[in-house]
Amino acid sequence: MERRRLMMGAAAALAAPALLRAAPAGAQAPASQAQAPAPLAQPPGFFRTRLGGFTITQLHDGSRTVPLQGFVRNAPIEEVQRTLAESFLPTDALRITFTAPLVETGRHLVLLDTGNGAQPAGSPVGRVAENLRAAGLDPARITHVVISHFHGDHINGLTLADGTAAYPNAEILVPEAEWRFWTDEAAASRAPEAMRPAFANAAARFRPYQGRVRQLGDGAEAVPGIRLSSAFGHTPGHSVIHVADGAEQLMYVADVTNRPELAARRPDFHIMFDMDGAAAEATRRRVFDRIAAERMRVAGFHFPFPAIGHMAKEGDGYRFVPTDWAASA
Ligand SMILES: [Zn+2]
Repeated sequence: MERRRLMMGAAAALAAPALLRAAPAGAQAPASQAQAPAPLAQPPGFFRTRLGGFTITQLHDGSRTVPLQGFVRNAPIEEVQRTLAESFLPTDALRITFTAPLVETGRHLVLLDTGNGAQPAGSPVGRVAENLRAAGLDPARITHVVISHFHGDHINGLTLADGTAAYPNAEILVPEAEWRFWTDEAAASRAPEAMRPAFANAAARFRPYQGRVRQLGDGAEAVPGIRLSSAFGHTPGHSVIHVADGAEQLMYVADVTNRPELAARRPDFHIMFDMDGAAAEATRRRVFDRIAAERMRVAGFHFPFPAIGHMAKEGDGYRFVPTDWAASA
């Protein structure tokens, strides 16, 4: 269905310029073409901002739409739709967006998560590498990649389509507990059938980096100014990444929440991708309380682009406030 819609969109995109030239003002497009408007393409998706002496570049990986049914496991769909409507989001399906931060510290070039990686032509995701280049950065210059957890949308960009390293000169830093879980053969054999491919996928993504993967415990530093902090629940070793230069702080929360309009506003919503819903909720409250109280900046992998801003405490939940966009920062 998704594939068919995409193909129709692509066909319409090719047809559109011809239509524009041929149709006199006010003319009606034929009904079949009118039903499939061309997707509106955006310019390359990256956004730069400063954090002390560091530069943060938010690299958009694209977005995809998923069914809303079942997305929140512990609330009726009407309640989920009401919450989305409060943020003026569509209520018939959910758009999941993906954005990975890149930190330039002056000494190191550090990518936080990698996006969906190589994709078939026409895919709406997998754009981190292309946006990295659009921002004037060569993947070969990346010195470190820090991974929050091993779900495909975060690690698949580690490899190119042929399975080789996308970041040939980078050291890969991973949460110790996450590495332990996904490399544990007993855990793999205990896992439900549907989860098995995720274990094989993790092994394939790290394979070209043998000898260059370093495990980090809670609080350990990746490079000066960037450290990991345990935030379990979404996965057994899911971690957030704290970036600081002087007094300025940014917390990259990865999947502490999916879209903030859902599980930040309603921390009690248990998202279908959270492996331990109750632990994920407790983590959400703890991490967002700290971010709000310390007024630090926040970036989230599934936040609306440019996916960086602040988090305000509001009632029982939190409101994401995007960073002010400026043409020159
Ligand atoms: Zn994710």
